[in-house]
Amino acid sequence: MTDPAQLPRHLRRIGRVFVDESMLDSPLARRVRDRLAGTTHADIPWIAVPEGQDRVECAGRDEQALYLKEYKGRFLRFCPGTRAYHCCGYRIIHIGENCPMACSYCILQAYFQDRVLKVWANQDALFRELAEGFGADRTSRFRVGTGEFTDSLALERLTGYSRDLVGFLADYDNVVLELKSKVVDLSWMDAATRTDRVLPAWSLNAPAINQGQEFDVSTLEERLTAARTCAEAGFRVCLHFDPIIHFPGWREGYAEIIDRIFDYVRPEQIAYMSLGSFRCMPQLTPIIADNFPDAAYIYNEFVPGLDGKARLLRPLRLEQFSFMVERLRRHGMDEQLYFCMESTEVWNEVFGFAPQDFGGLNRRLMDRAFGN
Ligand code: SF4
Repeated sequence: MTDPAQLPRHLRRIGRVFVDESMLDSPLARRVRDRLAGTTHADIPWIAVPEGQDRVECAGRDEQALYLKEYKGRFLRFCPGTRAYHCCGYRIIHIGENCPMACSYCILQAYFQDRVLKVWANQDALFRELAEGFGADRTSRFRVGTGEFTDSLALERLTGYSRDLVGFLADYDNVVLELKSKVVDLSWMDAATRTDRVLPAWSLNAPAINQGQEFDVSTLEERLTAARTCAEAGFRVCLHFDPIIHFPGWREGYAEIIDRIFDYVRPEQIAYMSLGSFRCMPQLTPIIADNFPDAAYIYNEFVPGLDGKARLLRPLRLEQFSFMVERLRRHGMDEQLYFCMESTEVWNEVFGFAPQDFGGLNRRLMDRAFGN
């Protein structure tokens, strides 16, 4: 008899599966059941959730639960940017909530206080809404992603959600899908009929931050190797530095990871790259302090921004951005670079121009996503 397969490390704490009664026989629930069979998690309890019950509980402090849910809200949304800063105009396909990994700086800790990983199992409703949204006018272009309230690929091994989405979107050449993650799962790749309509994306950080503040995620080398695999298969990739953290030795750390990128991919294989300095809603700081007592960066000098979030003092942000942009430019990066949620003044000081000079950030990124 063969030993049961291990799930990837970031999924091993899942101790039970909740399923809305209406979703028990959904294709997604059946698939998750099939994929758990033969693994060390084959016998975890499945619990049907009756209509009207809106809370489910994990058993212990270390346990996570998967919840396959019938979602009644809108699946296609606008990214919650703010008018005060230049926002990239991204659209979100909402496929679920919460993440099994643990990064000390993660905003999801403020959004979701439980350890329940929700996945919208009524995919038929999701695809209906997307067909209406994307099919109404095929000349309208959409740049969409799933990595806003969850990690795009964290649950892929069990759900195959991104693969389904990639397959569905093959009929919509007016849509580019970004799959943003901190783990490596490339099982969606063979569902892509057009490599120019999917943008696999990984977040990167300084090695010390990756090792000390990001848990159960892939290593930087694994992410970069995956980016190379995708680039060699004809996809363009996105790489994101967000949050950039101000810590002792930050210059050396970010220089090291920037230089490493180009051992794996060439600038022309990168569709775009965001740079965002650590910022957070005021209620997130005590949560980080509680969950990650070693996260000393939260005691840096912050000021409230126009969006109410605490941001690093501007001279320090400028120092971070100028250093990184200069280093990235030396490697041939140029139009790929943009700031996530920064002011015209910061753009001008670091880049020497602002989004209004090239027709707006949304348009720039749309053009880059579509390869124009
Ligand atoms: S991988 Fe992303 S979503 Fe998951 S904990 Fe880290 S920052 Fe949050």
